[in-house]
Amino acid sequence: MDKAKHDYFKQLLIQQRQDLIAGATETVVEMTDEDDTFPDPNDRATLESDRNFLLRIRDRERKLLTKIDKALERIEAGSFGLCEECGEEISEGRLKVRPVTTLCIKCKEEQEKQEKVRPA
Ligand SMILES: [Zn+2]
Repeated sequence: MDKAKHDYFKQLLIQQRQDLIAGATETVVEMTDEDDTFPDPNDRATLESDRNFLLRIRDRERKLLTKIDKALERIEAGSFGLCEECGEEISEGRLKVRPVTTLCIKCKEEQEKQEKVRPA
């Protein structure tokens, strides 16, 4: 992968990172804005499940953030775009959709097949 492509994916990842952080901040604001003294127990239950939902989202965001940071590290190290399993180049089309990926489509499919046989 040449420098122009590295730069392209670096920008893409930085953009995703910013969007994610902006989204995460909104979630925090929403949570602190909630009125904790709902009188109706049914409303209260809804509020609790909403909160669990938000926390799950945040967990996913955190994981994605880690993946983005790792991908940025790989760009710096020059190993970005190479499959961790087989060392082949990951197709650009796949990287554009999912720049944080570390597996080529072949290895990813293989991994998914194994996960189906032996669920994590
Ligand atoms: Zn591979």
